Amino acid sequence: MCLGFFAMLLMVPRASWAEKVLVRIYSNVTVGSVTVSFDLGSYNLFADDVLLLEPDLAGGRPVQCVATTEGVRVSVNGYEFGVYGKVSLLANDTASIMCVNPANALQRTYEGDIHITAPTARSLQLINSVEFETYIAGVVQSEIYGDHADIFRIQAIISRTWALRNIDKHKDDGYNFCDQVHCQAYLNRCTRPDIILGTMQSYGTTLVDADGNLIETPFHSNSGGQTANSEDVWRSALPYLRSVEDTFSLGMKQSDWTKVLTESQWLDYFAKKHKVDVGNDSLRNALLFFQQPTRVARILDVPLTRVRADFQLKSTFFSVRYDSLAHVITLYGHGYGHGVGLSQEGAIKMVRQGISYDSVLRHYYYGSQLHVDSAANSEYVRGYIDNIRTILAADDGNPNAAKAKKEDWLSLMFRIRDKVEREEVDDVPKQEIESDWEFDW
Ligand SMILES: [Zn+2]
Repeated sequence: MCLGFFAMLLMVPRASWAEKVLVRIYSNVTVGSVTVSFDLGSYNLFADDVLLLEPDLAGGRPVQCVATTEGVRVSVNGYEFGVYGKVSLLANDTASIMCVNPANALQRTYEGDIHITAPTARSLQLINSVEFETYIAGVVQSEIYGDHADIFRIQAIISRTWALRNIDKHKDDGYNFCDQVHCQAYLNRCTRPDIILGTMQSYGTTLVDADGNLIETPFHSNSGGQTANSEDVWRSALPYLRSVEDTFSLGMKQSDWTKVLTESQWLDYFAKKHKVDVGNDSLRNALLFFQQPTRVARILDVPLTRVRADFQLKSTFFSVRYDSLAHVITLYGHGYGHGVGLSQEGAIKMVRQGISYDSVLRHYYYGSQLHVDSAANSEYVRGYIDNIRTILAADDGNPNAAKAKKEDWLSLMFRIRDKVEREEVDDVPKQEIESDWEFDW
C-alpha cells in the first residue's frame, strides 16, 4: 500500500511544486496514540485505502489513532470505527492544515495528508505526504534563523538540493525523509511569509557541479573563520567542498568557545585511547601546546574529528593553552559544527552586508553552479511571490497590521493556489544554467 504509493512518487524525483514527498514526522518519538484535528480545509478519512468517513472533518471532529497489536484503532469524536492496517487523512484541497497532537509530544501543524500505521503494538508511524516545496519551506523554518528573505532563499536552495539528491534516503523504510537532522529538520509546516518568500524566490533552484549533477550541500552553524575540506571530516575530497577563509563567521553567536580540562584528562585520553607515549617530551609538548592558527585535520596522528566526538567539542578548530602551575589546559575553539560547506551564521552576515545570495553560495560551495527550473518563471510562482511581497510590504512598521496580515496571508496564499491553474512543468536539461554563474571565483 504505502510502498506502492512511494514507488509512484519516486518515478519523478524532480523539483516541481505539485509533486509530493513522504516525510516521517515525530520520527524520534515513540508515539503510542495521536489525535489529529483540523485548522483549515476538509479531510476524508480512509482505512486500508477504503473511504471510511466523508464528511468535512474540519468542524472540530478530532480523529484519534491508537497503536495496538492488530494495527491502528481509530475513533472519531469518541466513536470507535475499528482496527486497521493503515489510517489515512487525505486533504480535499491544497488549502488544508491539520494539527497533529501525540499523547507524549508537543502539537505541530502540517499541510497535506497523513498516513498512520502501527509497526509495533506500542508505536505509530506518522507519515506526512506533502508538496515538495511546502516541505522545503518547513525545513527552512526548522533549520535556520534570520531576518532576511535571502538567507531563507539560500537555505532553501541547499535544502532542496540535499532533498533531491537524497530522495531515496529512507526508501527501504517506505518514505523519503525523516524529520530529524539525520535527514533535515522538519518540525512544523512553514508559518512565516518571509520564509515562504525565500523558498518561492528560489523555486526549483538547485546547486549542481560542472557536469550538471546535484552536489552535496552540507552546512553547519559557524565555521569559526575558516571552513574545512570535506576529506578532513569525511572520506571523500569533493572539489566544491574546499576549505576557505570565512571572516563572515567571526563575531557571531557561535564564533568562539572554550573548554577547560585537567592536564591528566587530556594526556590520559591520548595515552589510553590512541596509544600516544605521553612520557616522550616531544609528543607531550605537541599535545599541551597544540596550536591551530588555520585548520588542520589531526593532532599528532589522531583525527580531530575523533577528539571532537570524544570530548563533545563544538568544533575541531581549537588551540590549547597550558597552565603548568594549575595543571589545567584550556581549549580555545572557533565555530560550531563540522565546518564543511556553508556556515549559516557566515551566510547570515554576508546577506546583512548586502552580498547577493548567489555569491554567498559560490563562497561556500566552490565552483558550483545554480540550476534554475523553468517552473521558477511560471505564472503560479510569479503570482505567489508578488502576493507575498505585497503582504510583507503592508506589514512594515505597523505591528497591528502585521499581526492581522499574518493571519490573512496564509488563506490568501491558498486562494492563489486554488485559482491559478497548475501548469505542466517540463523537465529542464541540467545544462541550462544561469549565465552569470561561471568559474570566475
Ligand atoms: Zn532520516
